[in-house]
Amino acid sequence: MIPTITAAAMLAEGVDDAEGDLAQAIKAIIGDRPLLLAMDLHGNITPEMCASCDGVFAFDTNPHVDAYERGLQSAECLRQIFAGELRPVVGHAHPPMMPPTINMRTAEGPMVELFALAREWEAKPGVINVSIFGGFPYCDFPWGGTSIVTTADGDPALAKVCSDAIADRAWAIRQQFRKRIPSPVEDDHRRQFYRPWSCGPGDAVEHGYDRGD
Ligand SMILES: [Zn+2]
Repeated sequence: MIPTITAAAMLAEGVDDAEGDLAQAIKAIIGDRPLLLAMDLHGNITPEMCASCDGVFAFDTNPHVDAYERGLQSAECLRQIFAGELRPVVGHAHPPMMPPTINMRTAEGPMVELFALAREWEAKPGVINVSIFGGFPYCDFPWGGTSIVTTADGDPALAKVCSDAIADRAWAIRQQFRKRIPSPVEDDHRRQFYRPWSCGPGDAVEHGYDRGD
């Protein structure tokens, strides 16, 4: 009966799927008692993670401002499990795409369409949560990249169909995730054009990690 919040993109020396390994270890201890995972939208999701838990609740925002709400949602799911009102199951789809994190904002860009689809599916009977993971592409890891994870009430086929449908749409619009970034020289020219009075140092963002976190 443990709701946990993890980044879901952790690698460890000798263990590629560190959080899947952690979930399996927790499940081995708690047995049939429920394990719910609240995770970062940039998570790289594995079959082991999904098989070890009873529900997944990813952040719906990037930059992430809804960790509290997703924690509450998972806690409410836990309450309903204990009340005998829900028997959640998880369905996972992993389209073969690894989009850059710089274009995973949820207020604009291709994520908007995918989250709109998720909300449509969540309005259907039996769908508890649809989590869209853009993934974290800077991990050298077979399961890196996009995943869709659906938590449904007692219906694994529904969970899988929902995840597959949104994964198909993500694959269809995959080119929209590509984003051209100006080179440092281009950017310097642009800066001088817009701010010709500026002769001080410029600003630069190193995007080796992700700015939404
Ligand atoms: Zn993140």
